[in-house]
Amino acid sequence: LLQENEHLGIFHFHSEYSFDSDTKIATIADKIETLNLKFAVLTDHDEVEGSLRLKAELARRGVDAEVPPACEYRTEIGDLIVVGLETNLKGLTSREIIYQTHLADAIVILPHPYDGHKLNHDIIESIDAIEVFNGRSSQTNNLKSQKLAEKFKKPIIFASDAHLSRHLGHVIIAKPRNMNFEQACLDGKIRAVKKYSLNRSDIFISQLIKARKHRDFRLLIRIFANPVIDHIRVKMPKFFKFLKTLKDKL
Ligand SMILES: [Zn+2]
Repeated sequence: LLQENEHLGIFHFHSEYSFDSDTKIATIADKIETLNLKFAVLTDHDEVEGSLRLKAELARRGVDAEVPPACEYRTEIGDLIVVGLETNLKGLTSREIIYQTHLADAIVILPHPYDGHKLNHDIIESIDAIEVFNGRSSQTNNLKSQKLAEKFKKPIIFASDAHLSRHLGHVIIAKPRNMNFEQACLDGKIRAVKKYSLNRSDIFISQLIKARKHRDFRLLIRIFANPVIDHIRVKMPKFFKFLKTLKDKL
């Protein structure tokens, strides 16, 4: 339950400024009003603009909510989230992103450390916080993330990673009222109020959006073929083996 000296908010989610989401900024603002959230950290892929637009939209409506500039950057070691920096750091290496971010007194958060990352000791040491719950990650990977944060004594944070508006409230966090998001994160003062995992179909939908936005037909075919192939592999291993030899012969 929410304590008197706390504010509710959401961290790490996507809007139409991401290649794999269609969520309108106005829809996100509606949701923030409905849920009575006091902070929202919108983290589009390689694009800060979404968070700036969300801030402007809420200001226009007279909604008092903290919306720091934020972005989820794709790097050579995997995704990194920067909060508190308006400059777009797209295309930089992980080291450069961490360096530029700290130079500007902003913070770097490591999202879903076990989904698509090539981590090394130096990187983990130099980031400011670790996402230990991600709505799109498996339970196993979330547990591993928790262990990683404990091992490196890093502050922790929780995210829905929602790509659809109906999932924005799946993970809700709380922070002290008297601290901004970045400070609360650095001080390890963020706690989860609600943690729901998304189901497979949600990830499937954002893959479809991505294929459509990119006009990527091969991805589209893969999206539909993969579950079928997985099914054959698990339920009909002999037939799977047969298909593989057939494919190798072709
Ligand atoms: Zn994300």
